[in-house]
Amino acid sequence: MRYIEPHAHMVSRVTDDYVDMAAAGCAAICEPAFWAGFDRSSPRGFFDYFRQLTEFEPKRAAKFGIPHFCWLCINPKESEDVKLATEVIDLIPEFLSAPNVLGIGEIGLNRNSRNELKVLELHVDLAARQEQLILVHTPHLEDKLKGTRLILDVLKSDRRIRPERCIIDHVEEHTVNLVLDGGFWAGMTLYPETKCTAARAVDILECYGSERIWMNSACDWGVSNPLAVPYAALEMRRRGHNTESIDKAIFGNPLRFLGQC
Ligand SMILES: [Zn+2]
Repeated sequence: MRYIEPHAHMVSRVTDDYVDMAAAGCAAICEPAFWAGFDRSSPRGFFDYFRQLTEFEPKRAAKFGIPHFCWLCINPKESEDVKLATEVIDLIPEFLSAPNVLGIGEIGLNRNSRNELKVLELHVDLAARQEQLILVHTPHLEDKLKGTRLILDVLKSDRRIRPERCIIDHVEEHTVNLVLDGGFWAGMTLYPETKCTAARAVDILECYGSERIWMNSACDWGVSNPLAVPYAALEMRRRGHNTESIDKAIFGNPLRFLGQC
């Protein structure tokens, strides 16, 4: 089995996770910038984090033979302070030429607030000006549907943005259609408790097809499983999906989307 982990927060993981992922056939890891579990106190905190994502973590991953890529942004959870967010967004362009940067992400909404929307628009503008791919985080709260609609409206209303260059992550049964119908890519996040289980994710694949969809573990500092993608592949195999369709879902699709970078 070979697979790409398109969304993992490896700065929070131990070296055993890298060993397990390499052993399971992981061919590349992509790490979106996100919330550290606490709010950073200044833009310098983000500057150091961007250095960690572009300089240190790729070296750590390389020790286990896995290429490491990343996405940059200030995440929605810290976007309430628009002044701080603007200062952080101003730091991003100097990092975009780092060889492992894929684009702008994970941007989006958390509580669907006015300030979060403003910061989302600033990120989308940056991505458009710099011709970057976009990775979007959709809210996990009860407002996922509303948040997904708001995000898609922002992306659709900017004529410079091409939907096939945007992936909308953490889709579930009630949002996947909206995303795919708009021409965007959809990501399913496999979590042991919340978000999608492997069984639900494979149900969604079976209902909506696997044209523009990928699965990720989004493993971070919380309860999560860095092997969630290969486990979902086992669920596909259990249900009789052939080797080709499994390879497309866990390797070919992420490669096709990310190959646009
Ligand atoms: Zn994430």
